[in-house]
Amino acid sequence: ITFEEIGSDVIGRHLRTAALGGNVPYSRSETSELLSRRRQVLGSARLSYCDPVHFVAGDGVWLFDQSGQRYLDAYNNVQIVGHGNADVAAAIAGQARTLTTNTRYLHEAVVSLSERLLATMPAEFDRVLLVNSGSEANDIAWRLATALTNREGAIVTEHAYHGITEATTRLSPEDWPAEDQPTHVEAVPPPVDQSNHHGRTADSAELITEALNSLETRDTELAAFLFDPLFTSTGILPPDTEQLRQMVDRVHEAGGLVIADEVQAGFGRTGSNMWGFQAADIVPDIVTMGKPMGNGHPVAAVVTRSNIVSALRDDPGIFSTYGGNPVSSVAALAVLNIIEENQLLEHADAVGKYLQTGLAQLSAEYDLIGEIRRSGLMIGVELVQDTEPWTPATTAATDIVNRLRQHRILIGSTGKHGNILKIRPPLVFKQSHADRLLDALDTVLGSFDDTA
Ligand code: PLP
Repeated sequence: ITFEEIGSDVIGRHLRTAALGGNVPYSRSETSELLSRRRQVLGSARLSYCDPVHFVAGDGVWLFDQSGQRYLDAYNNVQIVGHGNADVAAAIAGQARTLTTNTRYLHEAVVSLSERLLATMPAEFDRVLLVNSGSEANDIAWRLATALTNREGAIVTEHAYHGITEATTRLSPEDWPAEDQPTHVEAVPPPVDQSNHHGRTADSAELITEALNSLETRDTELAAFLFDPLFTSTGILPPDTEQLRQMVDRVHEAGGLVIADEVQAGFGRTGSNMWGFQAADIVPDIVTMGKPMGNGHPVAAVVTRSNIVSALRDDPGIFSTYGGNPVSSVAALAVLNIIEENQLLEHADAVGKYLQTGLAQLSAEYDLIGEIRRSGLMIGVELVQDTEPWTPATTAATDIVNRLRQHRILIGSTGKHGNILKIRPPLVFKQSHADRLLDALDTVLGSFDDTA
């Protein structure tokens, strides 16, 4: 046992005691009882694992379940500066005790946060709209684009996900029912290397032209191209930057706006840059963000230019009671401070590289591993049954995720074939944590080979 393990256990025990013995406004139940109560009131709402883990406390990269077991969290794009971060908690508690207001009042935190966000962006950006979730941010971005262009067509990328509102669901091919695909939206393959199996037959500018033509057959003109710069739900596909630039140019030529959805890729997830779009050296018209912005406290934003916001100037609809409230704003300011003070972008990139090297070593040993895709500390490990012809291993990813859970390590799976292991730890993940993950993955892949 290393010092780090003892330290983390001690802190975890302390946190558990606080959670179980403290003054919490709910009664405490055993896991099985809580699960059945949850089913009664929440129905079959999504849970990780059919036999879910019942966490009671978190500390840094660790989560603690009700029986005191500690799990390494390598699947978290929200608590990026660590579970239970003391600085974020202090900022939230301090502000909650001092003042919680409606956003119609003047408050320092909301202005400071907006200035700080703009300082991370290209000079063209001068407006921030603070909201409460990534879905809301994308919904408003879409409203801005349609209002400004007076058009209704969208281009998105295959299997993308952008939110739960009516408009964003229709912009999310991942959620399209086969029999009811929206007619104002075209989905194109992401701009990635064409030399493999990603299903691209033309270059990116051509794909946009084809999508524009297809919209035209339905009397629809392009309002916006909406994309996640990491193409996360398509399978974590860091883009071919030249191809992405060509797509953006083609969209602009056609009079459409470019919306970068940074809900997954933003806040240093891609390592060397704060925002995913920066790697491709493009300037979107609208950027949306959320998830890790408040390290778990709900806060999200749309960042854009004043001429674009003016499309909705007379529209009272963009007032949001909680968007930019002081508590959310100080949480986001604390996260920005922690990223900067601890140089988390550089750290995330270094640990991401280290993990990638370890995964490449595993791939030499296990044929199941295909491409390893990485951007900063977001890694997709493709699982393949065969390479000639390319055949995805569609059930292996879920199986491996479940087996890793037995080792008390949390990762996820994604992709349109469900064959991508998704490794997305908090940005404070260290090399020692990466070693633990790689060792467990080695063991699981070994056992998988034996039973496959
Ligand atoms: N955009 C992307 C790329 C996402 O991954 C998500 C959530 O998973 C959203 C938007 C929606 O964000 P939220 O769940 O905060 O509404």
